Amino acid sequence: RKFVYFFGNEDTDGKNSMKDLLGGKGANLAEMANLGIPVPPGFTITTEVCVLYLEKGAYPDGVLDQINDAIENLERVNGKKFGDIENPLLLSVRSGARVSMPGMMDTVLNLGLNDDTVEGLARKTGNERFAYDSYRRFLTMFGDVVLGIKHEEFESAIEAKKKQLCVNLDTQLNIDALKELVEEFKGIIRKNTGKDFPQVPREQLQMAIDAVFNSWNNQRAITYRKLNNIPRDWGTAVNVQSMVYGNMGETSGTGVAFTRDPATGKKVFFGEYLINAQGEDVVAGTRTPQSIETLKQTMPDAYAQLVEIYQKLENHFKDMQDIEFTIEEGKLYMLQTRNGKRTAAAALNIAVDMVNEGLIDKETALMRLRPEQIDQLLHPMIDPESEYKIVATGLPASPGAAVGKVVFTAEHAEEMAALNKKVILVRTETSPEDIGGMNAAQGILTVRGGMTSHAAVVARGMGKPCVAGCDALSIDIHEKVFTIGDFIIREGEYISIDGAKGCVIMGEVDLITPGVTGELETLLTWADEVRKMKVRSNADTPHDALVAREFGAEGIGLCRTEHMFFGDDRIPVVREMILAEDEDLRKKALNKLLPMQRGDFIGLFRVMEGYPVTIRLLDPPLHEFLPKHEELAAKLRDLEATVSQTGIGERGNLKRLMERVESLTEINPMLGHRGCRLGITYPDIYEMQVRAIVEAACELKLEGIDIVPEIMIPLICHVNELKSVKQHVVNIVEAVLKEKDVRMDYLVGTMIELPRAALTADQIAHEAEFFSFGTNDLTQTTFGFSRDDAGKFLPFYVSDSILENDPFAVLDQEGVGELVRIGIEKGRSTKPDLKIGICGEHGGEPSSVKFGYRIGLDYVSCSPFRVPIARLAAAQAVL
Ligand code: ADP
Ligand code: MG
Ligand code: MG
Repeated sequence: RKFVYFFGNEDTDGKNSMKDLLGGKGANLAEMANLGIPVPPGFTITTEVCVLYLEKGAYPDGVLDQINDAIENLERVNGKKFGDIENPLLLSVRSGARVSMPGMMDTVLNLGLNDDTVEGLARKTGNERFAYDSYRRFLTMFGDVVLGIKHEEFESAIEAKKKQLCVNLDTQLNIDALKELVEEFKGIIRKNTGKDFPQVPREQLQMAIDAVFNSWNNQRAITYRKLNNIPRDWGTAVNVQSMVYGNMGETSGTGVAFTRDPATGKKVFFGEYLINAQGEDVVAGTRTPQSIETLKQTMPDAYAQLVEIYQKLENHFKDMQDIEFTIEEGKLYMLQTRNGKRTAAAALNIAVDMVNEGLIDKETALMRLRPEQIDQLLHPMIDPESEYKIVATGLPASPGAAVGKVVFTAEHAEEMAALNKKVILVRTETSPEDIGGMNAAQGILTVRGGMTSHAAVVARGMGKPCVAGCDALSIDIHEKVFTIGDFIIREGEYISIDGAKGCVIMGEVDLITPGVTGELETLLTWADEVRKMKVRSNADTPHDALVAREFGAEGIGLCRTEHMFFGDDRIPVVREMILAEDEDLRKKALNKLLPMQRGDFIGLFRVMEGYPVTIRLLDPPLHEFLPKHEELAAKLRDLEATVSQTGIGERGNLKRLMERVESLTEINPMLGHRGCRLGITYPDIYEMQVRAIVEAACELKLEGIDIVPEIMIPLICHVNELKSVKQHVVNIVEAVLKEKDVRMDYLVGTMIELPRAALTADQIAHEAEFFSFGTNDLTQTTFGFSRDDAGKFLPFYVSDSILENDPFAVLDQEGVGELVRIGIEKGRSTKPDLKIGICGEHGGEPSSVKFGYRIGLDYVSCSPFRVPIARLAAAQAVL
């Protein structure tokens, strides 16, 4: 079997479509070579080898021979020899999984150097400083990545050396200093490992390859995989590549760039580079890099070539590219290209622009934005009307505004987030260990680093606001404060950041939420042309309905009438109704509620202008409308402390109220007296609600707005329940229509939210004119997980991978989803054109929306803010 794939202009084995096997980096290096772009030759050891190696602890047969052959090939095309003293070939060893995992896997450069080859390199290039600069870099990376020695040990030796020589930059270290550092580094390695640094290049190479494979299972990689749902069994490839040198002097350098602005999506070449530098210098934040435009002056030829190449790459991959390059004595080499990570705003703008440029079609554009990214676009920015004081500015590394309390460590950020506290993570710079904390924070603020620093790249990927490189700031980690000029900000104090402008603000600012306009509107219009499933919204008030309409909802899929019963003017009447001792008193209370409910529905219908509105009759157990027993008991104790006459009467009332509360209290209210069970035992409540709905619809009919009310009966488990309640509902509707002398279509349907209902949906469909799957309750009753108590164990289920996701957030397709599928199939076996939707959290969750389309839903219904997400997800479901 082929385990090793060569790349280099003439004999390249791989190509772009082989990412699974070669990893993203390897596949694209091969593709660039195929395109005739200058890439230092090398070879890729496949992901398959990684998986087998990690499983068995040994390499599969044949791998080592294939590596030997590939090295011979490399020696031939380079005209250098690996380990040779006269003209040594040096290698980089680079990881590369299927999808890019920034900062997760480490790279070793200049491999093959030892005490002899370093001399050879110096003689051959006539540049001794360069040779020793490369050697000390190699020792550091090898020590850190392969031998697991803390990077700081090497770093502090360099710092000490710089201090000793009174210089600031690595580039100012002279040959003698570098030679001394090499000896010190070897000492550090000996001290830490108890062994000498391995001088034999073949041994170095083997150890480095092993280390890359093993790094697939380091903690940082595991965390990143978890956050991004990357399967463990993908493995990583290893790329072994001939070195080119950006550290050969003033005509050499290295850089990274994006073919368009990854923060805004604007069509400008965007990047940074450093002269006389190697590898990660640009992103490490140790020297502040120069903007790519200046390369035009410093190295015009290389710049022109770079422009030509980036355009070629963008046209070839038809997407914004994130590229890495090195210039060796004026000659340009490409070291990496990949589809660049970008903010949601950039993803949107680039997708729409590329359609307009004729580079991609609308369908492709629709796939370029993950539906959940829309969330970020609708998320807060600083209210331009508000007043605030900017105390410092840094780089606008990742847009969006955030407000939170200052924390200085990733762990602290995670702790605070666990307590639902909003924090801003303030760091000198971030590193891969901080990922968990970055995820937990509202936003990130760093002192050092450029637009391509770790903090910036990761924050953009996560959609977190980030201000980077804010060097006016200085952190005192021991005192837990940071200062900006005269301002002192302590841990736990509020700050705000605006990642779009790069500013830092004292205290809390007001945030506002943008709407569906501009490019987002364009893209969602394209989505609407493609999708086949309707998107409705859950809305209980005219205000929610208006928001939903603005976001493009095509109806209301769930109006929860109980929400109309709260509010200061309603709750006393509702309590009066519940506590009524006879039918007359109850009727009186219901008559007071009727005009209120009718007003609610008129408002709702008017906003929805004839779009369908599904209204669910009262669902929760009645005790939810009553005060808590403990509260009453406390009040009673207070009253008993006084002995006035009025107190006695009041006490009597209170005691009666307590008795009633007690009698309504249930051990397990979610499985108790609720839903249609209320309708059956207290038919006059539903009667009032139905009357209010129909009277409202009649009134709008007079205004010329045609409504087809959809009356929904909750929590049916047996067809006979529906039969009984429905008969009652129909009688009232007909009576009201007769009274008003109006003719109107209406539908009576049901929620399917109990497993028995799904399993007997064929019977239920005889009585129902539509179904709406209430997947929240259906999840609760299918798993037997109480929604209100699952917080105690569900997080553990998810973190221990017992469940892949929280089933209340992401529909469990195999279990709950299967019940939905059965329900649809059975329902339609009775009524082929039965209208079916889902309401509940899952209606706005992209994977659940796509599943819903596959099993034949007519519509999904979700909260207003998720409507745009569902529109895009529904379009993607079709593509
Ligand atoms: P990452 O996945 O973290 O980006 P890379 O494998 O891309 O790691 O390596 C990081 C950097 O090391 C590259 O951007 C490049 O600057 C440098 N590098 C890697 N391979 C070579 C090489 N063959 N010659 C010169 N520089 C290299
Ligand atoms: Mg890296
Ligand atoms: Mg890279």
